[in-house]
Amino acid sequence: MNTFTVIFLFALIVSYSIQFWLSMRQSDYVMKHRDAVPDAFKDKVSLEAHQKAADYTIDKGKLGRIDSLIGLVFLLLITLGGGIEYAFNLWSGFELSTMLTGLGAVATIILFMTLVEVPTHVYQTFVIEEKYGFNKSTPQQFIKDQLLQLGLMLAIGLPILALILWVMDSIGSLWWLWAWAILISFSLLMSWLFPTVIAPLFNKFTPMEDGSLKQRIQGLLARCGFNSQGIFIMDGSKRSGHGNAYFTGLGNNKRIVFFDTLVNSLEEEELEAVLAHELGHFKCRHVIKMLVASSIMSLISLAILGWLIDKPWFFSGLGVSEASNAAALLLFTLVSPVFTPFMQPISAYFQRKFEFEADDFAAANARADKMISGLVKLYEENASTLTPDPLYSAFHYSHPPAAIRIAHLETKLAANG
Ligand SMILES: [Zn+2]
Repeated sequence: MNTFTVIFLFALIVSYSIQFWLSMRQSDYVMKHRDAVPDAFKDKVSLEAHQKAADYTIDKGKLGRIDSLIGLVFLLLITLGGGIEYAFNLWSGFELSTMLTGLGAVATIILFMTLVEVPTHVYQTFVIEEKYGFNKSTPQQFIKDQLLQLGLMLAIGLPILALILWVMDSIGSLWWLWAWAILISFSLLMSWLFPTVIAPLFNKFTPMEDGSLKQRIQGLLARCGFNSQGIFIMDGSKRSGHGNAYFTGLGNNKRIVFFDTLVNSLEEEELEAVLAHELGHFKCRHVIKMLVASSIMSLISLAILGWLIDKPWFFSGLGVSEASNAAALLLFTLVSPVFTPFMQPISAYFQRKFEFEADDFAAANARADKMISGLVKLYEENASTLTPDPLYSAFHYSHPPAAIRIAHLETKLAANG
């Protein structure tokens, strides 16, 4: 225990209280507006669907608060409670090299973190999603997914961690610059490999069949001057009733992916508008901007860690008596979110700005009225609330609240005649 412990505890209480307070506000606000569909949606959404969205939002909020309380207790247990210290002592007992001891201890902590999250995931999937008719996953599928995720995380994460630990050991005080270069190259490589190597481990991707929808989409792509490595339908319905569409990949390895659930629920012109929105993200360089922003953030973070790593108070203040590179990386990764709750609303603000730009692009290159009707269907089918708390949504929402987003599209509609 030292001054840093006190600062850490203070930051932890502040960031947890902010999250809890916002989540309570959201639930209260949604509850207050549960009895009536907002005017803008009166003739589009039924009261029944509106109330389902309200109940779903409130149930998820409750689970979210319990989950973050579990996360808080777990973080305290592994830091000040001695969990990380214990993991390192345990692995030291095997008298392996410093690197293997570090890797073993980090893998142990990751394993426990995964286990602690399991009850929340089970409850989310088999109680909440089930209750609202979204869950399509079987227990077998669920277990397979969890094991696959953990296996991938260890299989990909541990070699990268080993490389970074090696750099930290052999390069000297500027190790963090090298570690940054490794992380950036690695994340670019992963984005490039994701559509063809990682995603197919979890889902089946079928090229879209020839027909009017495909023609319409190819027409849109040609109009916007966009090249991709194909249009695919993903079997999202094997796990959940939620629908979505997205782009993945980098450079010439880009793919357009529609969830089968989305294709089944939207009309062709609505799908075209939704895709035009996604194209807008590429055309407005949002992906590159986000990549640059996150690269700068990770450079700053690593520079801070480069400074912290030879401060004994950083380790002792967080319950670890013996300084090591692996412990420093682990502590920093676990603890830095506690000190940066203000990053969330800043990044959400820019994401919402990008959403408006992508909507403008969609309105210019497809039909704005179909974008609106498609969005309303998506809100309804995903049971997303139409009445979020303004402060909660400003803090957390990566998309503008439904009413604001649709009002914005309506101005485009009026402008385009
Ligand atoms: Zn978007």
